[in-house]
Amino acid sequence: MDCLFCKIITGEIPSTKVYEDDKILAFRDINPQAPTHILVIPKNHIAGVDELNEENSAVVAYIFAKIAQIAKNEGLSDGYRVVSNVGENGGQTVRHLHFHILGGKKLDNQMA
Ligand code: 5GP
Ligand code: ZN
Repeated sequence: MDCLFCKIITGEIPSTKVYEDDKILAFRDINPQAPTHILVIPKNHIAGVDELNEENSAVVAYIFAKIAQIAKNEGLSDGYRVVSNVGENGGQTVRHLHFHILGGKKLDNQMA
């Protein structure tokens, strides 16, 4: 399968890793939109939020528990944002489920 983030998981494409275990990988976004911009992905390929179901979604709870830890480790004690873009209208450019952690500055309140 030709998936950029699957290649990041295998190491075929290099990344700056922030956290890794058998289920998930967190790495720095190549084009940061905030002083801290980390992507958290499941190692199991899921295309996006639109492909989640009762069989494969346990990893999302796991990811959010790790996001809280990663944010603490990054010193984001003043808050941060977690975003997942879905599909074309949502602005998703990589079809492998990922959660952006954005922080390190006061983010604007624009939702759309
Ligand atoms: P999306 O637009 O799908 O929500 O987010 C995809 C993100 O992946 C973008 O923020 C983009 O900067 C990031 N990205 C794309 N290619 C690479 C890459 O090769 N390495 C890393 N670290 N991030 C990437
Ligand atoms: Zn993938």
